[in-house]
Amino acid sequence: MTSLNDKQIVKEYFNATGFDRWRRIYGEEEVSKVQLDIRQGHQQTLDQVLGWLSDSLTSLRICDAGCGVGSLSIPLAQRGATVFASDISQKMVEEAQVRAQAAGIPTSQIQFGVGDLAGIRGDYDVVICLDVLIHYPQAEAEAMLRYLAARAQGRIIVSFAPKTLWLSILKKIGEFFPGPSKTTRAYQHRYVDIVRCLVNQGFTIKRTGQVSTSFYYTRIIEAVRD
Ligand code: SAH
Repeated sequence: MTSLNDKQIVKEYFNATGFDRWRRIYGEEEVSKVQLDIRQGHQQTLDQVLGWLSDSLTSLRICDAGCGVGSLSIPLAQRGATVFASDISQKMVEEAQVRAQAAGIPTSQIQFGVGDLAGIRGDYDVVICLDVLIHYPQAEAEAMLRYLAARAQGRIIVSFAPKTLWLSILKKIGEFFPGPSKTTRAYQHRYVDIVRCLVNQGFTIKRTGQVSTSFYYTRIIEAVRD
């Protein structure tokens, strides 16, 4: 499958059924038990990342690549950062705009963009990319990471679904009982591969974190330029 296909599939998903599913998970309305678990896991990821950043981000330019509905972009802007929030899904970006406006964020503080993150231009003090790589196989995820690393002048923070034996087994079981397709394929990545990729781009690993609830697993890495 070509990379164009992967991105096309992900884009279509997040403009249709994926939008409905994730808008709710990343929201406050009532959801199923599984979705609630994912919501809580994702919130822990946001909390860890926000905990790594200073309370005052004034004068920092931050790129939130694959911003979804703005769950991270909005609190970053509230702390004073100038945020560029972009996503391949127009529907997600539109929802993020609605939420940013509802949160009272001045338009001067968040600029939104629609498009593949591998087309983001410019340089940023911090580039953050949470829970996006899971949609892409290894080679493609690394290419995206290299692209983002080149945009990051100071640091990059990225999260991904770790490849572990237990998760691989769970995934296999899931493939035995596929049911209605709820999502695009989920790809896991090895911690060492992500680290190698960042180190090769001239970064040093500064902090790592992880979140695991019943249905949500993420590793988070913060890397700084050497
Ligand atoms: N980072 C957000 C959203 C995670 S959901 C958060 O943590 O809250 C994954 C998001 O990645 C979706 O909104 C999806 O549309 C976006 N995405 C997937 N592939 C992308 C790509 N190639 N470029 C930009 N965004 C992408």
